[in-house]
This record gives sequence, structure tokens and C-alpha cells, in this order.
Amino acid sequence: MPDDPRDATAAPPPQPDPACPRCGGEGVVPGAEGEHARLELCGCIPPCPRCGGTGRVFVQREDGTTVAGRCACQRLPDRVAIFNRAGIPARFNRATLVSFARGAGMIGDGDKIAAFQAAAAWLKSFDPARENRGRRGRGAPGRGKTHLLVAVARSLILDRGVRVRFIEFTRLLGLLREGYGAGRSDAVLLNELAAVPVLAIDELGKGRMTDWELSVIDDIVSRRYNSFGCLLGTSNFRPAPPSGAPVPELASAAIQRQTLGDRLGERTWSRLGEMCDFVEVGGVDYRVVGRSR
Ligand SMILES: [Zn+2]
Ligand SMILES: [Zn+2]
Repeated sequence: MPDDPRDATAAPPPQPDPACPRCGGEGVVPGAEGEHARLELCGCIPPCPRCGGTGRVFVQREDGTTVAGRCACQRLPDRVAIFNRAGIPARFNRATLVSFARGAGMIGDGDKIAAFQAAAAWLKSFDPARENRGRRGRGAPGRGKTHLLVAVARSLILDRGVRVRFIEFTRLLGLLREGYGAGRSDAVLLNELAAVPVLAIDELGKGRMTDWELSVIDDIVSRRYNSFGCLLGTSNFRPAPPSGAPVPELASAAIQRQTLGDRLGERTWSRLGEMCDFVEVGGVDYRVVGRSR
């Protein structure tokens, strides 16, 4: 998708109102409810005088000829389109780095502030043109890992125009099963997850981890490893190699003592270790904090 203006001489496109109470100057507001988070452009962005809202402009080249180009005003709409296809769950429609930091600051949660700083530093170092080591947030349920993962994805999309695909691991398994039930091949979805510049997987290691489930995650991680794709993720499991401990029943409390290596297998674990840095998202349990107020 073309993202940048082709005409360096053009005036900057119309900007959102920095004092807009609806969008806070971001230019986007949450869209219609559904399974996935959606954004819409805010009405505070003035109409574009250059293209009249069509997005098409003619750009004069140095040799005097003109070519059709994409107007600079389309940058935000293009990024909103990427966001709306990213597969972010609807309940995280408003999850941003600012909302994460504000929540952590308000409850004085040093661990979460440290996780926010690590995410912000990673975003700063991210360069779409080269191989990027991913980040994996790890922490117990309710610690804000998914919020942080979505916020990082949102920033990559809206601030940088990077294509990101978000998927919750057990949801991915469900989609694949539905596809098999309907006689569809899994190739389209798995190819998309292998090829997107940044893949964000929520809840790595969750599930029963049957041979089939292990083969799905192995396939995705291997393909991204081979193509130097960036992988972000979250997990409730400790980032450590396989411990060799026997696999407990899903309902057993002992499952929490398993490592991510136990859950994913040696091969996938060692590739993840090469591809990702690990960030602990500890601190106060957000859901408990929310309930107690
Ligand atoms: Zn606005
Ligand atoms: Zn325009």
C-alpha cells in the first residue's frame, strides 16, 4: 500500500484538531463493535483541498511529465485500514501505550512502568527495513500483557505504517479447525501469518499442546525464523528451556510451573530464544485492581 506523498512540493495534508475532545488530536476514534477492534477517522480532520478527498493527485516529475500519485492526506486512512485488518480483539479497541502508562502510573506500579519503558525503547529501535528482534511479554493472567502487546502493535501501525497481524493462539487453532471443517486448506491463513512484517501472538503456550497444536506453532515460528520476520508475543509461562518435567493435566495447578520450553518443545523454544527478548510484565493484577475500586 503506498504510504507516503510523492510530491515533495505539496503543502502538508490537513491535520486533526489537537484540541479535539473526541480523538484527543490523534485523528482516529473507535469504530463499530464487532469481534475485532476497529478505528474510524475523526470528523475533526478538515477536507483535503489538494485531492478533494479522492486520494488521487497528479505529481509533476522533474522532466515535466505528470504521474498519478497518492495524496499525502491518505496516510492516516491507509494506516487505519491496516489497523482494521490486524485482527486485534474488540475489547482492546482503546488500548494504547498512553493508556497502559497512565494505568500503571495511577496505581504506582513500578514493574509495569518498567515494562512500558522496555516497550517504548523497543519501538524506538524498530526499523522496518532490517531484521528486528521481537519482544515477548511474560506474566501471570491479568497483568496487562495483552494491553501492552496491542499498544505496541497499534503504535507500529498508526505511527509507522507497519503491517501487523495480531492473533490469540487458541483463536488461531479454532480458525484452523473451522477451516478444516469447511473443507478449506490452512495455507491461506498460515501463509498470511508467515509473511506479515510483524506478527503478534497472544498467549503462546496456551492450549492442550497436542502434536497438531505443536506442529502449528512450530510451522509459524520456523517460517518467520527463516524469513527474519519480527515476532512479538505474550505468554503466561516462564521463558526458560524445557525442564523435562512430565506434562501435567490442563486443570492441574502444576501447569503454572511449566516453562515455555515445556509448552512449545525444544525446537520452537530455541528459535524463539534467538528471535526474541523477554520482558516481564509483573506487578499488580489489573483485573483485581479494577474490581476492588
Ligand atoms: Zn478529532
Ligand atoms: Zn488529499
